[in-house]
Amino acid sequence: MDIEKEIKKTIEKYGLISEGDKVVVALSGGKDSTSVLYILKKFGYDVSGLLIDLKLGQWSEIHNEKMRVFCSELGVPLTIVDLKEELGQGICFIKAVLKKEKNLTGCTVCGIIKRWILNKWAKKLGADKLVTGHNLDDEAQNVLMNFLKGNVLLGVNSGPATGGKSVKGFAQRVKPLFFVPESEILKYAKGKKFDILYDKCPCAFGTYRVETREWMAGISDDEKMAIVKNFQKLVPGLRKGNKREMKVCEKCGEPSSSKICNFCKIVGSL
Ligand code: AMP
Ligand code: ZN
Repeated sequence: MDIEKEIKKTIEKYGLISEGDKVVVALSGGKDSTSVLYILKKFGYDVSGLLIDLKLGQWSEIHNEKMRVFCSELGVPLTIVDLKEELGQGICFIKAVLKKEKNLTGCTVCGIIKRWILNKWAKKLGADKLVTGHNLDDEAQNVLMNFLKGNVLLGVNSGPATGGKSVKGFAQRVKPLFFVPESEILKYAKGKKFDILYDKCPCAFGTYRVETREWMAGISDDEKMAIVKNFQKLVPGLRKGNKREMKVCEKCGEPSSSKICNFCKIVGSL
């Protein structure tokens, strides 16, 4: 697969980025987000990087340094947000407290916290679009996980463009890698010899997402594509009966589908 062509097609078909948009790419330091930053810069978009330093010891330090070098060589500005300055603690401590107090586990907590900080900083940086490196494998996992939870409606807002769209002042979140399999991105990043870490997050073990990912190892890229494309065909129908208007959270003012956002619900207990 020519992933540059595929990304261009997705951007055009779903109107992900318009000319003149200020584009902020959420950088984890992994192959997906670095590749998408590199490609969007190559396409000539006004891009910058935004990385949350999760304070995972040496793992975070190596990622931060590699991203500093990657962005500087690419000529792209990079903002690093320190989680301890934002929330007073690193991600491991936050996860440990939430497990004890609320029995919340897995990548869900991390996802809620990252999303909230990324939204807030994208707005601060004046972004029109907030790009993430979510790929086809992530999306296929989501479809299956929602199905296995017995709640396909959890995917009602899924798609290459999500969130923030209808809330004034917020950057819309977009996923140019939505239809690109992880294996193809890995090939691309290795082919370009990107000097990054190719390992998974050290915190992600024994979670529902990791189990689903392992289970999906036996599924081909074509099958993953079918899972995602077939589910996307159902989305308009699901939306019709389940309009979830985006509002702003009464506590923090960030986008939310309910009165109090998930971040305030969980972090209020820290
Ligand atoms: P993950 O949830 O780790 O699979 O990451 C999905 C996407 O979220 C990545 O491709 C990035 O765009 C973004 N992301 C994950 N971790 C970070 C981070 N520490 N800082 C900024 N963006 C991140
Ligand atoms: Zn809130």
